[in-house]
Amino acid sequence: MELMNLLADGIESPVAVETHCHTSVSAHAYSTLMENVMVAAARGMKGLCVTDHAPELFDGAPVYYFENLKSLPDQMMGVRLYRGAELNLMSAAGRVDLPDGLLSRLDWVIASIHLPEFSPGDREAVNAAYQNLAKNPFVDVIGHCGRGKFFFDWEPVIKAFAGHGKVVEVNELSARAVPESVERCAGILALCKQYEVPVVLSADAHFADAIGRYDHALSLVEQVGYPKDRILNLDGERFEAYVQERRREKQRHIR
Ligand SMILES: [Zn+2]
Ligand SMILES: [Zn+2]
Repeated sequence: MELMNLLADGIESPVAVETHCHTSVSAHAYSTLMENVMVAAARGMKGLCVTDHAPELFDGAPVYYFENLKSLPDQMMGVRLYRGAELNLMSAAGRVDLPDGLLSRLDWVIASIHLPEFSPGDREAVNAAYQNLAKNPFVDVIGHCGRGKFFFDWEPVIKAFAGHGKVVEVNELSARAVPESVERCAGILALCKQYEVPVVLSADAHFADAIGRYDHALSLVEQVGYPKDRILNLDGERFEAYVQERRREKQRHIR
């Protein structure tokens, strides 16, 4: 696959802002930031959140990588760049792996379970982890909670996300890479609809070509009848306004 061919393949993204992508800073991802931006621009996107894995993942980026995201421009090739991170949710108490002060300066903070901190039988611990995470004012969005083997009780957890203004991710990679998670993702999305939890559609790209493709996420939205006006990243201005409002909230909490 040639980069130039990839950029000219005529794909138009149905989503305006990619909210979850990794760069080769995470060693199990394979595109540079510039390549990700080039693909987002070529596919007509307005924004891109760069959300590399936080330090506690085996190949996560060091703290200073996230500190120094300020050296990136706000716009690249007409694409608004959002400085972000994908945190690891690591304990029933809701512990995450970057400090609050730093998180308060990021534009878009995802928190996800990856590590072997929880096992499939730890339902109560995962419930508590998500419910405590919901109270963290510096976390914007819950990453791929329908994927994998970390089971939890959907209803109380989704209610906690609703009560604390969290966003839930409809993660394209979960459906693409872990087909058995589709049913769980649909169940979780139905509860997000019921409790009016806003969502974003994300590629969770580990290679640039994934950016701009959301077939599985969109079919989940159709299946569940999730209202499009509550999908924050279908529109670039809506997403920007949401990030600005969250920025003010985060700053209030850091004082
Ligand atoms: Zn993840
Ligand atoms: Zn990853």
